[in-house]
Amino acid sequence: MSTLSNSLHAADVAHSIHPYTNARLHEEQGPLIMTRGDGARVYDSEGKEYIEGLAGLWSVAVGFSEPRLREAAMKQMEELPYYHSFAHKANEPAIRLAEKLAEMTPDGLNRAFFTNSGSEANDTVIKMVWFMNNALGRPEKKKFLSRTKAYHGITVASGSLTGLPGNHRDFDLPIIPVTHLTCPHFWRNGAEGETEAEFTARLLTELEETIVAEGPDTIAAFIGEPVMGAGGVITPPQGYWPGVAEICAKYDILLVSDEVINGFGRLGARFGCEKYGFVPDIMVVSKQLTSSYMPLAAIMMNDKVYNAIADNTAKLGTFGHGYTTSGHPVSCAVALENLAILEERDLMGNAARLAPLFQEKLQALASHPLVGEARGVGLIGGLELVADKETKAAFEPAGSMAARVVKHAQEAGLICRNIYETVALCPPLMITEEDVEIIFARLTQALDQAADWARETGAM
Ligand code: PMP
Repeated sequence: MSTLSNSLHAADVAHSIHPYTNARLHEEQGPLIMTRGDGARVYDSEGKEYIEGLAGLWSVAVGFSEPRLREAAMKQMEELPYYHSFAHKANEPAIRLAEKLAEMTPDGLNRAFFTNSGSEANDTVIKMVWFMNNALGRPEKKKFLSRTKAYHGITVASGSLTGLPGNHRDFDLPIIPVTHLTCPHFWRNGAEGETEAEFTARLLTELEETIVAEGPDTIAAFIGEPVMGAGGVITPPQGYWPGVAEICAKYDILLVSDEVINGFGRLGARFGCEKYGFVPDIMVVSKQLTSSYMPLAAIMMNDKVYNAIADNTAKLGTFGHGYTTSGHPVSCAVALENLAILEERDLMGNAARLAPLFQEKLQALASHPLVGEARGVGLIGGLELVADKETKAAFEPAGSMAARVVKHAQEAGLICRNIYETVALCPPLMITEEDVEIIFARLTQALDQAADWARETGAM
């Protein structure tokens, strides 16, 4: 190891605690320190090259070295590095970005509220919905409906919407009234002999029965990712979303589309709700909004939500919510430039064009001895690993085989992510056909290595 790597390694182990990391294991093995990016590639402190198969955290659309984003940030830093949005203050990039998002997002979503992260955005959604229903004189209409395996963030309220055991257990969550419905994963949750259409019908019945049993007057909103990302890349069964939208409308329940991963071309359409044919009342975007070069999220809302909130602020004198850095001018300037690049280079179109190749390569791995299901859409995909293809039984201990595959992939120069039993891929939107070939060649090699190990040790 170089002297620089050595000293960074020691300092990290001595002084940091990492998100989503086993701290004791980290003390033993230390960090992988990234020092440089170039297009879809990143380089570690030893100079080793990796192709980024997860776009950072599902988020870097334009690659890791875009000079125009650097320049946009510098220009804004020089002009006005910071200003806030409280008490009628505004700045030009935040105004222009709200206007741009209103134009890009589906009809009706005309207003933007800015936060720093997806978690803060979903916390804000909860507060806005509560504020709205208090204003409308229905203070009992407060519950949220979410799904098992949903990922909506990790703050105390957004973490309550998340439907993953690791985000609740030992954190004393959920802390808000929320019901988690069945995860819309046909391969895992479909009953014996049930068709996909029957599975959808069963989930929609569960939704409606839950609303009726708990009382429509107590349920404020349904929140969902069109395609679930951090729960393991779960694509919805046919007809699911239009059915959910219809039931929500019937019982006056707001529909929130969490597009933090799905938004801006990831699924081969601009937004997930457009892909699956529904119109939400509220939409949350982040990640690819700035390619994560700067922290930023936006909550887009329709007039029904806005007007209820606005009327109440007129009564109360204020909307008592917001962050020091809501609408940060540097983040908003970077977002505007990032969206301009997506359009000028047609990167959303690039994702749609590469999707058939990407999905074909992914499906080809369905027959690999370790893979139970290959699933995905656009430029996102997941391989769920199983010890037994017939029974779909997972490897023991849970998640260990996916972690092994991801480790071998990293050694081979591919960064991807293990989520429980699933290996996830979500490359930058700017990748090429050749990059797709490289990603799958390295992933196949990693799967083969792990399968060899499983055979040798009797794990399979
Ligand atoms: N919603 C979704 C769908 C996400 O994928 C994420 C992050 N992975 C979040 C919300 C939370 O975003 P953040 O990590 O920026 O708080």
